[in-house]
Formats: sequence, structure tokens, C-alpha cells
Amino acid sequence: MFLEVALPLPLLQTFTYRCPSDIFHQTQPGQRVLVPFRNQRVSGFVVKKTEQPPKDLPANTTLKEVLELIDPSNLVSAELFQLAEWVSDYYFASRGEVLRSCLPPKSNPKMHKIVMLLQGGLDALERDEQTAELSLKERQLLRVLGEHQALELKELAQRAGFEAGERDLRRLVSNQCVQIQHQLAEPAVTPRFQKSVALRAHTAVEALKLTGQQNKVVQSLKARQGPMPVAALLEELSISPSALNSLHRRGLVVFSSEAVRRDPLRSVAALSSSNERTHTSEQVSVLKELHEALSSASFVPALLHGVTGSGKTEVYLCLIEASLQRGRTALMLMPEIGLTPRVAEEFRQRLGPDIAILHSGLSDGERFDEWWRIKRGEARVVIGTRSALFAPLENLGLIVVDEEHDPSYKQQESPRYHARDTALVRGKLAGALVILGSATPAVETFHNARSGKYRYLRMKSRVQSRPLPEVTLVDMREEFKTSGKPAVFSGTLQAQVAQRLERKEQVLVLLNRRGFSASVLCRSCGQNIQCRNCSISLTFHRAASRLVCHYCSYEQRVPKLCPRCSSEHLYFQGDGTEKVEALLEKLFPKARIARLDRDTVQRKNAHAAILRRFQNGETDILAGTQMISKGHDFHNVTLAAILSADSSLSFPDFRCAERTFHLLSQMSGRPGRGELPGQVLIQTFHPEHYCLKLVAQHDYEGFFEKEIRFRKMMHYPPFTSLANLLVRDRDLDKAAHLINGIGKIVQKLAAGQMRLLGPALSPLAKLKSEHRFQLLIKARTRQQLREVLKQSLRLAEEEGLETSKIHVDIDPQNIM
Ligand code: ADP
Ligand code: ZN
Ligand code: ZN
Repeated sequence: MFLEVALPLPLLQTFTYRCPSDIFHQTQPGQRVLVPFRNQRVSGFVVKKTEQPPKDLPANTTLKEVLELIDPSNLVSAELFQLAEWVSDYYFASRGEVLRSCLPPKSNPKMHKIVMLLQGGLDALERDEQTAELSLKERQLLRVLGEHQALELKELAQRAGFEAGERDLRRLVSNQCVQIQHQLAEPAVTPRFQKSVALRAHTAVEALKLTGQQNKVVQSLKARQGPMPVAALLEELSISPSALNSLHRRGLVVFSSEAVRRDPLRSVAALSSSNERTHTSEQVSVLKELHEALSSASFVPALLHGVTGSGKTEVYLCLIEASLQRGRTALMLMPEIGLTPRVAEEFRQRLGPDIAILHSGLSDGERFDEWWRIKRGEARVVIGTRSALFAPLENLGLIVVDEEHDPSYKQQESPRYHARDTALVRGKLAGALVILGSATPAVETFHNARSGKYRYLRMKSRVQSRPLPEVTLVDMREEFKTSGKPAVFSGTLQAQVAQRLERKEQVLVLLNRRGFSASVLCRSCGQNIQCRNCSISLTFHRAASRLVCHYCSYEQRVPKLCPRCSSEHLYFQGDGTEKVEALLEKLFPKARIARLDRDTVQRKNAHAAILRRFQNGETDILAGTQMISKGHDFHNVTLAAILSADSSLSFPDFRCAERTFHLLSQMSGRPGRGELPGQVLIQTFHPEHYCLKLVAQHDYEGFFEKEIRFRKMMHYPPFTSLANLLVRDRDLDKAAHLINGIGKIVQKLAAGQMRLLGPALSPLAKLKSEHRFQLLIKARTRQQLREVLKQSLRLAEEEGLETSKIHVDIDPQNIM
């Protein structure tokens, strides 16, 4: 009997192992087994069971045997297994890596290597006095083992006082001095237990002679009528553990241990009284149609296109409730929950303990507990970021992908899946309603809705007929003419901010770059100070007094002289949020100013704290990167200022106009969400750019028309299928050789059918010490694209090219 096994490594191929019949009969696809692989023992996922050896097996190869079954029960449901198969097939991704996303966090088991002393080792040690047959290292290892018999390899090395690996043991193993055994280590994350204490039943406390402290404990436990966590009891009564222990010795109390849940939302207030809302007429009609779709209990994809502040969250909540009432579960994906703690809180308040949340800001323990609550069916609603798509929900009735246009849904490393597109596949497998929600849908999504692939639902007005904010483009060329010097804040903007402060209203200021100055330029030699590992200018961070690379986190001191020509004429160029904050403080000394960007949210919960203070009106101005644009619902904000709209319009990426439109529209959606109307100021040197003009007019459809024409003309999605072949290597020549090799193969196969861009250096030519080349392939149909890619990779393999260094990115979102 045989098992086909996928390893959680970046490999496209799978491996076949012989399998003992007892293990064979216990396993299902998706379950994990321990297998030997390149002198290691690794865990792999069973993807297929067969009773025949693989057909293409070369003659007289002996297959290795499966060692152990790891998961006693299958953690991957049949539906998720199917989904994982689709993801790996569609995205050319490692099946093992995709399946790993379906498991609780950190569940890749580690192996312990236990080194055991054999009689031969003792003999050798004895003989060695005369023969000196052992090396210095071997002698030392055997001596340590002589004291302990068996030790974990790492510990053995530590006690022996030097770095030791399996290589140092090779001769000892073959001379039968020691033996190495591989054992599965304890999992990295396990349930947390808590010690509790309770009064033993039928204890007549009145008859006892007790010390003062003991009496306190007894009275407190009696009042409680049940077990109480020991730590909490000790703290509450401020007594020492010895009082408890002596009660325990006398047999008066019993200790117990129970699993406790690590709850990521523990600080959120419990269920508030359900405040029934009267829905807007648009919410009513959208809900009517979506309720119908939900009750059909079959796959329905829908786009909910609602302007910012139209009340989309309310629609999601009603449908989640409806799905639960029908006995089905619900999944809601969001771009980044850390950015919008409000939403998770609102959901907890409305839906109670039924919800679980999953995102990268949780501790491993919290994620572990949430995963198991979902798996056991205790949590029937999951709110999470991209990877929550693989949450082990059963009987899924509804999937919501909020802000479906957000680029963070595409994973940038392997497996490179797009969570929105994969959500549609999961919905299809589950027979669920899938709602893609956005104020500014992705061009592809809107195209699909218009061509009838998705239901299209529109909400055009804000709740309570609040107007959309008035958007003004501030022409920075004019500003320059009047002031004669480059300014971060235009006069118009300064006046507007002053006015809001006067009226005790709040202001948001966006500049999508952190740090103080974008780069440091030498005026003598013209050189920008670059990262050592990347072809990127270093950014000056004033608070830390360092130059920092935003791509690899490399840092260095700020040099006094140019590192190339030793000139002292270094010039700090371009502005970042740190400078914006400093300038605001100078301009408005009385205002309370906060900054939100990746630098200010390093500490856990810092993020939520900054947002909460702003929400509560303890801050007047919040400056920051795109983090301030996402989904927040601040009611007292009446002005949003965007300092530089231009930089992102000129990136070498066909989506740069779309990205800019999304960001500026999101930002324009923030002010005016309360009683007071809002205003938006956008500073730009290109006020005539169609993207900015259409943002100002809140004209999504107009933008789409422009953009779709451009996509058609330039043969970009949705009119073509796109794949990016990326090659990365520390060695420039090797990388160039590899991209040329695969490039030639693709060119031959694609001749006349597809458009190729490249092979060429990637716009980010060097990143994290790796040189990067890419080849962009545009095909008329997906089928063609897949065929060519498959064949190309196979031919490349046959030609002996290092295919593991060719990264395939299907539907790339980022081609830099
Ligand atoms: P969107 O996600 O569409 O930008 P939100 O869901 O954040 O909009 O809703 C905007 C605001 O309107 C929120 O404060 C929300 O609580 C409120 N809201 C939603 N629906 C209603 C309603 N029917 N009546 C009153 N307020 C509502
Ligand atoms: Zn210089
Ligand atoms: Zn770098």
C-alpha cells in the first residue's frame, strides 16, 4: 500500500511512500504522517492513498516507508482539503504549504534527536586511553554521554561545550558507539491550564479550628459555591499560598486543573442591549435580495457596492445573524483587523460569544484556542484576515469579504493566493452566499458584476442622508508660485486646520510614507544613500536617529559625510509622517496631535490605544500613513487632508492609478460621518490627472470607465490572464542565467499566442540581498497560460535549471 505525501516545503512535487497497513487504513487525505526525507524526518500531508505503486517509478527504486501517523484524527475537512487542492493547482503552490494553512498555528511538529550511548561507546572510551582512537570532540561527547546515557542532541552539544551536529556523530554511529533516535517533540502551542481550588463537599466548616487566613479562604470559597482560580483567590484575599496548602493537607479543599480560553477580545464589554435600528431604504432593499440568496442555500456571488458610510457593516451583521438562524456558520474577512478593532468589538457586542477572531496580532496561544473553538463548533462566526479563509468552519452559509479591493488579500509569498478569489471557490464548495463589499470595487470585480457573473447591489447614499464630503484639489504649483518655496502644508490647508481646531472638530492628515525624510542625497556626487541589501534609498527616522530600510529593516547611523565622496553636503529630501507630526506641532502648538504608522504601533495594543484616544476626542489631529484611512468610523472628523497624492501615481505598476483611487476615496470617506458635514483637501502637482478629478467627484463609475479602457488597450486583466515569473538569487549571474533560461523556454512555447514583458530586472532590482528578475506573461485565456507554465516548468526541470528558484505569481497584484 502506498501514500502520496505533500511536504510543507516550497516544492511542487509530491512523494510516494510505502505504508504499513495499519497506518494506511487509519489515514485520510489531509492527515499528517511522519516520513523520512533527505536524512531527516519530516511531517507531510497525505494527499492520496493507492494500492498501486506509481506508474512512472524508475525500475529498481525502493520506496521509503511511512514511519508514523501524526494526527490521531483528521484536522482537515474534506471541503478544506478540496479547497487546498484548488489553491495549489491554480496558484502553482506547494500542496504541503497550502494544507499547512488549514491547521492550527505552529502545528508543524519539531523532531528531537536523542543520542543514546551504546556499550560500544563505553568500550571505545576505555580503549581510547591506550589507542587514542577518538577525536577530541568524540571523546568529549562520549564522556558527557557516559554521565547521562541519553541526551537531546542540542543539550549534548551544550554540555560538551561546543557546537555539535549529526556530522560530528557520524563515525560514532557507524562504529556502534552511539545511536540516534528521532522523537516527535511536544507541539509548540498547547492549551493553557489553570489551577483552581474548591471546598471539599460536605465539609462542616463551622466545626473547624482555623487560622485567620485559612478562615478567609474557607468563607470566600463557601460564598462562591464552586471552584475559583488559585491566582485570583490569592490576590483577592492577599494571602500567601501556604494557607491554601495547609488547608489542602488537612483535606478541606481540593485542587483541580482546567483548560482556560485565551480570549483575544477579553477586554470588550459583553453583549449590549440590542439596539434595533431602522434600516435605510437602501439597506432594506439590499437585505431583501441577499436574504433570498441566503435562503436558496446555494452558491451566490454578489458585489455590495456601497459608498463609505452607507452602512455596509449593518448589512453584514443582519446576514450573519440570518445565517446562524438557519443553522449555518459565517465567515467574514477583513484586510487588517488590527486597524479596525471597532468592527470586532461591534460584532462581539451584537453576536455574543459565538464569534472567534483570527489575525496576526493575536498570540499563538490565542490563535490556537480560537482555532479549536471553531473546530469544535463552539464559535460559529469567524472574523479574520486573509488566512482565516482556511478556518475549520463547517456548514458554511455565508462569506463576506469586506473591502474586497484591498491589496492585502493577496499573499506576497508562497502560497501566493488571493483570499477574495479563493473565498469564491470556498463559497462554491460550501454552497454559500459570498458577498464582496467595497466602496471602490477592484476593477476586475466590478467588471465581473457588470458582465453578470456576480449579483450587483448598490448603496449610493450615506445613512441618515449625510452628504458625502466636498473634495478640493489644492494645486501645489500655485502654492509654490505665491510662497516661492516648497511647503509641506499649503496655505489653504493650514487655514482649514486652524478653523477646525477653533470649532473643536477633528482632523485627519494622510501622508503615505513613514519616517522623517524619505532619502538622503549627496549634493556633491548626486548619490542617494542606499540600503546595503536592497536597491532602495534609506529613510531618515529622526526619533531613532537612524537611517532605515523600509523593505528589509536594515538600519545604520546617520553619516556626517557622504559614504561615497566624503562630501559634507548631505541633503535630507522628501517628507514622512514623522516630519508631518513635528511640523503640525510647530504650527499648532495648542493642538493635541498623535501619529499612527508602523513606527508608533510597535507595542502590543498601541494601535488600538491611539485610535481609542482619537475616537474619544482626546486627540485633535491624527496624522499617519494609509493606516488612518481604513474603515474607521470617527464621528467628529470634519476634515481629511492628503498631503501628497502624486507619488503613488507614477509607480511602474499598471495598478497604480487604481491603488491611488482606492486610497484617496477611502480617505475621502472618513470625514462627515457624524452630524457635521465633511471636507477633503488633496494637495497635488497634477490636479488635472483623471484619477484625482474623479476622486473629487466621488465618481467611481467614471473612474472605472477610464481604467477599463486603458486595461483593454494595454492588454491587462480582466482582458488577459497574468502571471509573473520571478527569479531571486544572491548571485547576480546565477539569477540572470536562470531568468534567461526559463525566458527562452516560455518564448518558444508562447510564440504568437501571448505577450511577454521581459525578462528584465524587476523595478526593485535588489531586495534583502537578492537580485530580482521577472518575466510578465499575458495570455488571452487562463487555460493557455496554465498549459504554457506547466510545460515550461517541466522543460526547465529537464534542462537542469534550478526550478525551485523560479517563483510563479498567478494574478500578481504587485509587479515591482
Ligand atoms: P460603511 O462600512 O458602508 O462605510 P458603516 O457600516 O461604517 O459604513 O456605517 C456608517 C455609520 O452608520 C456607522 O456609525 C453605523 O453604525 C451607522 N449606521 C449603519 N446603519 C445605520 C442605520 N440604519 N441607521 C443609523 N445608523 C446606521
Ligand atoms: Zn557624495
Ligand atoms: Zn533593505
